[in-house]
Amino acid sequence: MANKGLLMCVCQGNCPSFQQMNIFDVGNAIRREKLVDYVGIHPQLCSTDGDKFLSTLLKGESTDELYVAACDPTMQVKMFRDALESAGFSKEHIHGVDIRNMTTEQAVGSIKNMLGADKK
Ligand code: SF4
Repeated sequence: MANKGLLMCVCQGNCPSFQQMNIFDVGNAIRREKLVDYVGIHPQLCSTDGDKFLSTLLKGESTDELYVAACDPTMQVKMFRDALESAGFSKEHIHGVDIRNMTTEQAVGSIKNMLGADKK
């Protein structure tokens, strides 16, 4: 079965766009329902160490599908391009959703929608 991971990124945790939600509650809601194989939070995925984190995580084919809840998905693909290339991870297997300016409940709903869990 495909190994699925969820990463959440919150612009270092002090950006106003993420102040309405509790990011830990968001992650807990997804992991409690076992909708993915792992859940993680990174403070700034688009930084140099975020690149390093992503390429290290995705090397070795242990993740088949990566879901990212953060900022605009189109921007995510552009910002993560070098890390994905370095890991040999196809951008077809990365799925993003924008959770900025959402409450905890709204963010959970958007992530579930991305995962297709709301259709089960
Ligand atoms: S990847 Fe997006 S959400 Fe994360 S720090 Fe960069 S701009 Fe902010």
